[in-house]
Amino acid sequence: MDYEEQLDRAMDQKPDIAGSESRFEVPDPELREEGNVTVYENFQSTLSDLGREEDHVLKFLQNELGTSASIDESGRARLTGEFSQRRMSDTLDEYVETYVKCPECGLPDTNLETVEGAERLHCEACGARSSV
Ligand SMILES: [Zn+2]
Repeated sequence: MDYEEQLDRAMDQKPDIAGSESRFEVPDPELREEGNVTVYENFQSTLSDLGREEDHVLKFLQNELGTSASIDESGRARLTGEFSQRRMSDTLDEYVETYVKCPECGLPDTNLETVEGAERLHCEACGARSSV
């Protein structure tokens, strides 16, 4: 690891001080290459941070990255192909923007509910219901 990477890492680990109430930190994906498979090591803890179902997040990643994926016996996601940490992180951000953050108030305190086959976000903070 060179100096710049260490610096990046230090920045990443800096605690979120200002506005931590309203800002939601998407957990950084921890990825490992295994042949032509990218193993998403902290997939389960990411799911619990996001409060979303494994299948839902996995399906989104598959669509966005245009690949196939599965969950292994340890709960890690295995995605076919090589994906950079940056790309995975951007994809996860998109997921959060679409399926976790309330479009009305921006808070992540939401539930995803399915009503008559359509997905909706229900915000516990402001009560807004919005289609996704
Ligand atoms: Zn809201």
